[in-house]
Amino acid sequence: MPRVAEVAAGLRKEVKSDMKSCLIVDDSKVIRMVARKILQELEFETEEAADGMQALEACKANMPDAILLDWNMPVMSGIEFLRELRGLEGGQAPIVVFCTTENDIEHIQEAIEAGANEYIMKPFDSEIIQAKFSQVGLL
Ligand SMILES: [Mg+2]
Repeated sequence: MPRVAEVAAGLRKEVKSDMKSCLIVDDSKVIRMVARKILQELEFETEEAADGMQALEACKANMPDAILLDWNMPVMSGIEFLRELRGLEGGQAPIVVFCTTENDIEHIQEAIEAGANEYIMKPFDSEIIQAKFSQVGLL
């Protein structure tokens, strides 16, 4: 007979699998808060990281379905994080949407080459997030 803790863990896993998860990576607390509000309204389970290193740790612990990713961050930038992520076991799976003020063609190309799926210009709002997330099949 399974132990209670095992049953509870199984149930949590089932509940979790119903909702898509999105890791919000940005060094700005305000932007994380705005993104969290939008994504929770779209029924995503959210997690947050303030830099690329924290984001990598979060992914190693629990690979999300989607990642909303800032470019400029201390410790580890978004692009460095993305290259590391795509090299991890299971790291090909998350849909990565860059969300940044770096909107010139060189940056966009660099992001796509590193494995980004979509690109959003800051400032963003709920409509933009919904449109992009729909395009990549997250909604
Ligand atoms: Mg930043």
